[in-house]
Amino acid sequence: MPTLAELEREASTCTRCPLAAGRTRVVFGVGDPDADIVFVGEGPGAQEDLEGEPFVGRSGRFLDRLVTEEMGLTRDRCYIANVVKCRPPGNRDPHPDEIASCRPYLEAQIDLIDPAVVVTLGNFATKLLLGTTEGITRLRGRSYPFRRGVLIPTFHPAAVLRGAGDAQAQMRADLVRAKQHLAAVRA
Ligand code: URA
Repeated sequence: MPTLAELEREASTCTRCPLAAGRTRVVFGVGDPDADIVFVGEGPGAQEDLEGEPFVGRSGRFLDRLVTEEMGLTRDRCYIANVVKCRPPGNRDPHPDEIASCRPYLEAQIDLIDPAVVVTLGNFATKLLLGTTEGITRLRGRSYPFRRGVLIPTFHPAAVLRGAGDAQAQMRADLVRAKQHLAAVRA
């Protein structure tokens, strides 16, 4: 098994799928390789593509704020990754072949970090890791056994920013659930 750093080096020149042609930088992941918690988003946007770091744009700042407010955590104490590591053009949804090509990187990241809690942000990460076609609205609000820990699905922060209603309150509640799991494994 390679280390996270070796895997990142390998991914930095990846050409396994057509997204490679349009990227500025591969956005592999960021944070503590020994984190107890991993957040998984969908794919890099424009700002992430430029900086090479996940969730640094508007939805990332919103995610950081909610995670700090509800969990008391900063991003250096978590690990953050995406389903696809290269930006889909025009921020379109990633295609199934792109997700399949990139999946081994995400699987290896989770294997190597071996977190107690995985929080999936939105439909793509949730469906991929839970192996379901059920939508996020039905799946969120509980935790699922996942590898040696749990998976907690929640909304994508961009959807909460766009959305109406109580999506933000629900996302906050999901983060509190994640915090409670972390507290339980650390106790
Ligand atoms: N949206 C995502 O899903 N991931 C990012 O890194 C940024 C925006």
